[in-house]
Amino acid sequence: MPSPTVVEVEQDVFCVTGTDVNWVLLREGADLTLIDAGYPADIPAVEESIRSIGARPDDVRAILLTHAHIDHIGAINHFHDKYGTPAYMSAVETSHAKREYLEQAGEMDVVKNIWRPGMLRWSLRIARAGATRHVTVPHAAEFPTAGALDLPGAPVPVATTGHTSGHTSYFLPSVGAVVTGDSLVTGHPTSRRVGPQLLLPMFHHSEQETLASLDALASLDAGLLIPGHGRPERIPIREAVTTVRERAIGKSGSAHA
Ligand SMILES: [Zn+2]
Repeated sequence: MPSPTVVEVEQDVFCVTGTDVNWVLLREGADLTLIDAGYPADIPAVEESIRSIGARPDDVRAILLTHAHIDHIGAINHFHDKYGTPAYMSAVETSHAKREYLEQAGEMDVVKNIWRPGMLRWSLRIARAGATRHVTVPHAAEFPTAGALDLPGAPVPVATTGHTSGHTSYFLPSVGAVVTGDSLVTGHPTSRRVGPQLLLPMFHHSEQETLASLDALASLDAGLLIPGHGRPERIPIREAVTTVRERAIGKSGSAHA
């Protein structure tokens, strides 16, 4: 696997890109919060990204999850087994992480969409990254408190359901940023667009609910969008939500969108 790309998007806020997916490091003194954990094959890249900012993997106080898809949970058991790192998420998403049910695009969804530009190459790349591996997170735990979490960066969970039933974004009030996971992205190898957008419908448990829950993001005082896929973007989050909704309407209202 190639080395991860690490960008300090705000002081002590790092957006890292692994195999077509991002994770985020929040630093406070010597302690870190890790939001999301890449594909299974990204484990060395997650550790490398931590070392690249002068920290150690056991400095991670907790892993926060946006949602329990394979491209976001890859290193989570490794951190638990090796460093005892807890993993927090919404109550609903704990059941998903434990694989009591699965809300994830399967191989058949990929096959049906293989004609789309970029799909074949992307699917081969993620297969090598462990996309078809069955991973469960037995230690998945609900947020210990409501509101801002007592963790480095003091992230505030914001329910943005739809992509999965328990999907959560994280607002960082001190820097005016929001980590949106897959509720709102800025790019993907299966999309020709750059900028705020939704992933393809095949990736969402409910696209309609994903769009509706963007209300929760639009009300945040944030000017920096840190997505699960694509580049971080400096844009008022309210504007990003408007763009995404206009594109979604354009898509259903016109045959050549
Ligand atoms: Zn994803």
